[in-house]
Amino acid sequence: MNFPDQIHAGELLSVLFYSPNATAVYQDEDVKILSANEAMLKFWGKSREIIGRDFCSALPELDGQPFFEILRKVWLSGETFIAKDYPAVLLTNGFPEQFYFDFEYRAILGPDGKTKYILHTASEVTERREALKMVEEKSRSEQKLIDDLSALNAEYHVTNEDLISKHEELFNANSELLRIKKELLTANHTLAENEKRFKTLVEKSPVAMASLQGENFEVDIVNDKALRIWNKDRSVVGMPLSEALPELKNQPFIGILEEVYATGKPYFGKELKIMLERSSELTECYLNFVYQPILDENNETVSILVVATDVTEQVQARESIVEIKNRLEIALDASRLGSTEINLSTGRMDSTNQFKYNYGYRTEDEFTYLDLYQSILPEYRRRIKDLVKDSIKNNEVYKAEYPVKWKDGSIHWIQAHGMPRFNKDGVADRMVGMNADVTDKKLAEQRKDDFLSVASHELKTPLTAVRASIQLLNRIKEKPYSQTHIRLIEQSDKGIEKMCVLIDDLLNMSRLGQDQLMLEYHHFNLYEMLDKSCHHILLEGKNQVSVSGDKSLEIYADEHRIEQVVINLLNNAVKYAKGSNEIHLFTEAEPDCIRVSVRDFGQGIPEAVIPHLFDRYYRAEHIGKSYSGLGLGLYICSEIIKKHSGKIGVISKMGEGSTFWFTLPRKKSGKGQVMTE
Ligand code: ADP
Repeated sequence: MNFPDQIHAGELLSVLFYSPNATAVYQDEDVKILSANEAMLKFWGKSREIIGRDFCSALPELDGQPFFEILRKVWLSGETFIAKDYPAVLLTNGFPEQFYFDFEYRAILGPDGKTKYILHTASEVTERREALKMVEEKSRSEQKLIDDLSALNAEYHVTNEDLISKHEELFNANSELLRIKKELLTANHTLAENEKRFKTLVEKSPVAMASLQGENFEVDIVNDKALRIWNKDRSVVGMPLSEALPELKNQPFIGILEEVYATGKPYFGKELKIMLERSSELTECYLNFVYQPILDENNETVSILVVATDVTEQVQARESIVEIKNRLEIALDASRLGSTEINLSTGRMDSTNQFKYNYGYRTEDEFTYLDLYQSILPEYRRRIKDLVKDSIKNNEVYKAEYPVKWKDGSIHWIQAHGMPRFNKDGVADRMVGMNADVTDKKLAEQRKDDFLSVASHELKTPLTAVRASIQLLNRIKEKPYSQTHIRLIEQSDKGIEKMCVLIDDLLNMSRLGQDQLMLEYHHFNLYEMLDKSCHHILLEGKNQVSVSGDKSLEIYADEHRIEQVVINLLNNAVKYAKGSNEIHLFTEAEPDCIRVSVRDFGQGIPEAVIPHLFDRYYRAEHIGKSYSGLGLGLYICSEIIKKHSGKIGVISKMGEGSTFWFTLPRKKSGKGQVMTE
């Protein structure tokens, strides 16, 4: 600042002296105090004495503080220095004290531009500064407070959030608790309700029910049905089952219960037999039952619920049905009866094996009504169809006998019975049938018919001859002893002889049929018997019979019957070996038996025929020739020999003749003696 020259410096200074602001004026580089007003002196704590002195010497307490240096710089540079809130340590009552000042070192320049004075104005701002400091401090502490608060707030926030989440958790837990409580209440209620319902259910149940508690199976709840099966009263409630029903000992039930209890798995019993005490006797009962384990929340069995139905009647009824069915099957099997059920709309048949077999079908073969119908010989089909129709129409049993042709071409006779079965609408939908193979019976009947025709024919021939002879004898009775007389008597005799043989055969036959062939054993000489039996042939004089073998052979047998066999074989040799007249009769002693053979030299017997020769009524065909006979002779021989425990057979070769033989078992009893038992 440049003062106008006309203003005197002294005037200026005096103005400044009155300024309430502390003011001082300095000059020169060493800062000489030209002037200082009261206010400034008060700051410094100095008296006017310091006017005119150097700054440094006047204010030594400011040494070490920057003021002098700043002033010097201002003097030298001419640049004003302004400070605010600048600290200065000053002496107060001889003690250093810190004050704060706003001050200005204003360079007042001369016209040469150089510093002429330095005007120092200052005002103490310690209070303001203190206030400011206080404010600052306050604001600092406020800030801190704010910071603290915000930290606290943040913390609070976190805590709050925590709290909120805790709260939420608590809330949730609480509502869960509430829910559980509600549930528990409901559950409790339902439990009580369920228990009540369960009890009622058990008691009112139409089947037997009981609840067995704990591992001793104490009877807890039991209904009347169960008590009835057990044949016990309510006193069993609370008792272990083994005490309530001591008869269960040695029966499997307690064991099964233990198993169910241990495994927690139910057990289903089907038609199990249980022995229960009824009127002090163990009675057989059959039960269908379930042992259902009741588990707690840890899956441990607490009790077992028993639900049972008494099926004794059904089982027994079924057993008796099975028994009846078995018996029926045995009877059917034994009598070779087949049975079937035919579905009339499909033609399907549910047949027993025997039924199929009677038509020549095997067990595994399909056999339908069509198969059955087609196996019937064509000429019988129409009639059978009509019989079945009538049976359905009149709801009655039909009975028929018809021949069927098996797949192998053989013919069999079937006897069939059938009965229609009706559905609930009264329509015949099924047919139940039984059959039997009656081929043998049919053949027997056939044979009987044949036999009767042969027998009557055979008896008729000699009878006719005898009748003719007797008629002639009658005519010539006035002329006895003529040649004709003799011939007729002989013819009659032969005819009667033949008739006797035939009638003997018939009689023997009927005796054999009734198993009345009684043997009269005694010892006799075999050779002598054989010799005797060919007498009648030798008498005829047409055949030569040679007898050979051990003449001393004694045997023990029915002589008459053995003789009958030998005569039969000899007669056949005469009858069927007409071309040759030589017959050999011989005996052989074998280790275990005596063999007697009759050999002829006739035409022989075809091999295929041999197995049937000893059958009843069997007669082989002899081309171009006819022989009288009933086909019974060899059959009777074989029966007699079998009865003696011997064997009979034939060796034959076509064109060379036949050897019929039989054996009798021998048992040595003394020298040369053979016995049959
Ligand atoms: P029958 O003589 O009454 O016919 P048999 O039972 O005595 O009955 O004989 C059965 C069949 O055996 C005879 O029909 C005959 O064909 C045959 N037969 C029996 N003996 C002889 C034989 N020695 N030679 C040839 N065929 C015989």
